[in-house]
Amino acid sequence: MLPTRQTRTIHVRDLPIGGAAPIAVQSMAATQTRNVAATLRQVQLLEEAGADLIRVAVDSAADVEALAEIRGASSAPFSVDLQENYRLAETVARHVNKIRYNPGHLHHHEKSKPIEDKVRWLVDVARAESCAMRIGVNAGSIAPDYKERFPGDAVSAIVASAADHCTLLDEAGFTDYVVSIKDSDPRLVVEANTRFAERRPDVPLHLGVTEAGMPPEGVIKTRIAFEQLVSRGIGDTVRVSLTVPFDDKGTEIDVGRSILADIEAGRFRSVPPNFFDGLNIIACPSCSRVENERFIELAEEVKRATKYAKEHDLTIAIMGCRVNGPGETDDADIGMWCGPKTVNLKRGEETIGTYSYDAVMGELHKELDRQIASR
Ligand code: SF4
Repeated sequence: MLPTRQTRTIHVRDLPIGGAAPIAVQSMAATQTRNVAATLRQVQLLEEAGADLIRVAVDSAADVEALAEIRGASSAPFSVDLQENYRLAETVARHVNKIRYNPGHLHHHEKSKPIEDKVRWLVDVARAESCAMRIGVNAGSIAPDYKERFPGDAVSAIVASAADHCTLLDEAGFTDYVVSIKDSDPRLVVEANTRFAERRPDVPLHLGVTEAGMPPEGVIKTRIAFEQLVSRGIGDTVRVSLTVPFDDKGTEIDVGRSILADIEAGRFRSVPPNFFDGLNIIACPSCSRVENERFIELAEEVKRATKYAKEHDLTIAIMGCRVNGPGETDDADIGMWCGPKTVNLKRGEETIGTYSYDAVMGELHKELDRQIASR
């Protein structure tokens, strides 16, 4: 038996989330949304795998048009990820049942408009179209003012950002919302969600370890977070983020359900004490912004080819697009963010160079060997 949760129950169309409702398992299309055929295939795979909720991201008017077409292909509730362009909510809300916005992305458009006004506008749009909302905070994209207020303390920054946005929605009289607080490090996910749940025990939580990477490590990282949180009654819906070939996207739903079943049955996997030692490879799960599907093969190749360095405490981050890739690789020892034809190789925040998909592995080796030798 899972512990009783204290959160209120909200509804995403007919899907209850929170309170006594079963923990919903959801996932997201990994393809470019404007590629209708490829995204429809993602939706079908997720629905066949039993997804309770399917998320699709939009970046442009073309994506919104494509999503309207895709919507008709599935009976599952749909959530939309607004990425950085919150104004798209106005045209996309009628096609979906839930709107996710990231407080760390609201400053990109209409820079002079107060964040509070943008949130109130989003609430009005959601209310008019009977959509639920998700306040989706991510340690990789903390709003600039929270970074300033909490220098070097990502957990406090993301918990405060999530809690303040809850207050904005509460003040607008809107209660049909959930919160997510994610990072690629499951330890940070556990700490931040525990602190948030103490502060706002009434708000349903969407759990996930973002950029968990490839199986099996991506599954282990996710399991660590879910075991720690769900076993304490924290978490009302989950998303597993894995870097897998597009045709294997249903795996995320299967893994989510099997982790929840294990927790419910009391089957906890003990994590080796040294799991966090040595080489750490993080990789994004791909989304509508992905620029070349080949990045998934590249991530797998990096994992295979760097086994010789497994004893070294280094992080390699591989990201699928130019929008979030540059920022989300800044904290890694070696970063790779992938464009349509080339891969940008980084050392921390510094760019080493831009190489073809074929040439980048040789350059990665040189940099990895250099960093190992300098330790
Ligand atoms: S890095 Fe880019 S492609 Fe990957 S999940 Fe994030 S936004 Fe999507």
